Amino acid sequence: MGEFALELNDDQKGVRDWIHGFAADVMRPAAAEWDEREEFPWPVVQEAAKIGLYSLDFYAQQFFDPTGLGVPLTLEELFWGDAGLGLAIAGTGLAAISVLTNGTEEQVGTWVPQMYGDATDVKVAAFCSSEPDAGSDVSAMRTRARYDEAADEWVLNGTKTWATNGGIANVHVVVAVVDPDLGPKGHASFIVPPGTRGLSQGQKFKKHGIRASHTAEVVLQDVRVPGYCLLGGKEKLDERLARARERVGKVGGERVANAAMATFEASRPAVGAQAVGIARAAYEVALDYAKTRVQFGRPIIDNQGIAFQLADMRTRIDAARLLVWRASWMATAGKPFTAAEGSMSKLFAGETAKTVTAQAMQILGGNGYTREYPVERMHRDAAIYTIFEGTSEIQRLVIARAVSGVPIR
Ligand SMILES: Cc1cc2nc3c(=O)[nH]c(=O)nc-3n(C[C@H](O)[C@H](O)[C@H](O)COP(=O)(O)OP(=O)(O)OC[C@H]3O[C@@H](n4cnc5c(N)ncnc54)[C@H](O)[C@@H]3O)c2cc1C
Repeated sequence: MGEFALELNDDQKGVRDWIHGFAADVMRPAAAEWDEREEFPWPVVQEAAKIGLYSLDFYAQQFFDPTGLGVPLTLEELFWGDAGLGLAIAGTGLAAISVLTNGTEEQVGTWVPQMYGDATDVKVAAFCSSEPDAGSDVSAMRTRARYDEAADEWVLNGTKTWATNGGIANVHVVVAVVDPDLGPKGHASFIVPPGTRGLSQGQKFKKHGIRASHTAEVVLQDVRVPGYCLLGGKEKLDERLARARERVGKVGGERVANAAMATFEASRPAVGAQAVGIARAAYEVALDYAKTRVQFGRPIIDNQGIAFQLADMRTRIDAARLLVWRASWMATAGKPFTAAEGSMSKLFAGETAKTVTAQAMQILGGNGYTREYPVERMHRDAAIYTIFEGTSEIQRLVIARAVSGVPIR
């Protein structure tokens, strides 16, 4: 008895406060400029690398925190600083996680360090799954990977889109179809090493928010990568494909696709934590403003109409954080997400960020609508959190299926 506690330990508090300092001192003052420039903020990422915040060591330490809270604590503080800069720093993590979860020990040791580079030569990585015709519907993926047995090489062809860090990455992780009859179970992930011929950046997108983060198409034209670039190795892939073919024969494609979707669950709380950081930042600006802005002879917070909004905002943010922490703890403790708890956390936190930043803009009145105050940027940044890493509709689909057992469409 008495085991359950939500209090952070001293190490966690120390890390949180350290990142908060970087977010307040380095990210906040630079945020508006990089949002306007709409370019990848190399100097800010280099600053983070100099103090060890953008590094494989730090990332691994947080990833392997036995409570599961290392990653959400880190991300909440970074995104409290600024979401565009935050994603520039955290975007490599998505590619790193895919190697950590699917790669062999040797692949982790070879490629993950090259994703980060070092403080004197900073690198980033990209995870390329989405395609023009395969966003929510991963099974519509067309990028093909063909094995050239004689050369022991994989040949990749296709076009990826919306890739964070696509084209500017040192290492790209590309998901491609190996067996089109198996839906997502027939997909595999490949490392495309630095400087590989045939990989190029297509269109770079001009975005509504998170504009300091680089988002682009990645074109793959007869990209040849050595056999050892298949994540997990050929033997494991062949076994997995054989098992999937057996299952398709027995239960049809639907169950197979659902099983594949379940693997995405684990990364969703991390995205939820980013949304919590943005929401908290906007809420704090609105709270301060409401206490100091005087209309009708009194601070606007004296009106219940404003104060109750702030109460709701804070309640939603705390609820979102608790869902994120629960899912992060479950993922680390190996508890199965039987009710899609990972999706729940991302859904609620993403919607919270969108709602709370809109409320914050309203509380700031005309000032909230201008770029003189940061809530306008925060609101633009928040909008992506109901779209990427699975839209809110897809999260609801996943949750509804998990809790009902019905293959809802
Ligand atoms: C800034 C940014 C960064 C990104 N970074 C990456 C990245 O690094 N790597 C990567 O691989 N991808 C990335 N993405 C892609 C992102 O994950 C997709 O945009 C997202 O999955 C949605 O796909 P889509 O845009 O094709 O929308 P669509 O799938 O076309 O969806 C359009 C609308 O239809 C709805 N919809 C679709 N299917 C259903 C359904 N069955 N039921 C109800 N509603 C449905 C959706 O919810 C949405 O509202 C990024 C996207 C953006 C914008």
